Amino acid sequence: MTIDFIIYRGNDIMVKTYVFGHKSPDTDSITSSLVMTNLEKELGNADAEAYRLGNLNKETEFVLDYLGIEAPELLESVEDGANVILVDHNSPAESVDNLENANILKVVDHHKLALETSYPLFLRFEPVGCSETILCKLYEENGVEISKEIATLMVSAIISDTLLLKSPTTTDDDRVAVEKLAKIAEIDAEEYGLEMLKAGTDLSSFTIDEILALDAKQIDFKDVKSIVNQVNTADINDVMAMKDELEAGMNKIIENENLDLFMLLITDIVNSNSQVIALGKDASLVEKAYGVELVDNTVLLEGVVSRKKQVVPIMTESA
Ligand code: MN
Ligand code: MN
Repeated sequence: MTIDFIIYRGNDIMVKTYVFGHKSPDTDSITSSLVMTNLEKELGNADAEAYRLGNLNKETEFVLDYLGIEAPELLESVEDGANVILVDHNSPAESVDNLENANILKVVDHHKLALETSYPLFLRFEPVGCSETILCKLYEENGVEISKEIATLMVSAIISDTLLLKSPTTTDDDRVAVEKLAKIAEIDAEEYGLEMLKAGTDLSSFTIDEILALDAKQIDFKDVKSIVNQVNTADINDVMAMKDELEAGMNKIIENENLDLFMLLITDIVNSNSQVIALGKDASLVEKAYGVELVDNTVLLEGVVSRKKQVVPIMTESA
């Protein structure tokens, strides 16, 4: 571990390193870019710089406002040969433009491997609930102190990705990290976490198109070309009140991007369920996958909160 950092420091000093999470950034992507950049600097890579690949959501805004820190700068593409570090993603489809011509130094992630390179690189993947759980370990392994600010960034992302440790993606490592980080951050994880998650459910300032892009991921369930978008809410009815407008927006995207399926998951963060709106010629895949019947293109999926664990594998298997 430490050796990698030392070699890297020798090679690439004075060359800017772009550090960023995925497009349509969530709290993990934004905070991990900041936390990883800080770790790089602590380990001697003074030219590491955090970036974001899209607009902040309300939840992430809440976190940065709470700490009084600035959002990373927006990055649209990187120059040929640029040094980059990927956090919270590794799929080129979710990454910066021109990634194929960049020099990926490191990846720290908790998603399935979707990257192939022609050169060796530092990879740290763990099947945990959040990238920040892995970063917390990297700080410990490298003997880097976790400040109150860094702890707050980390714990916010873990609470976000695991929906307050209630998502089935949650592991013991995430629980241990939250307990430790909440102490350093001097917060009550439950109280702060609920406030943060609720801040993220405020959709009032977004247009329908923005809501449909907030946390959209392009996923192919075998040959079913799909987008799965997830919107958190404290009350499903608040979002379902916009159902007609949402469906019109979804149909437009289906047509423009030639999709077979658009799934909008409206996830109730209090009761841990998701109302799904499914449109497209393969919408019935949702019925097959979950043994449910869509009525007016929608159905409640009991206990479903995790796209990664409760949507992607089940839909892929049924496709
Ligand atoms: Mn993420
Ligand atoms: Mn994540």
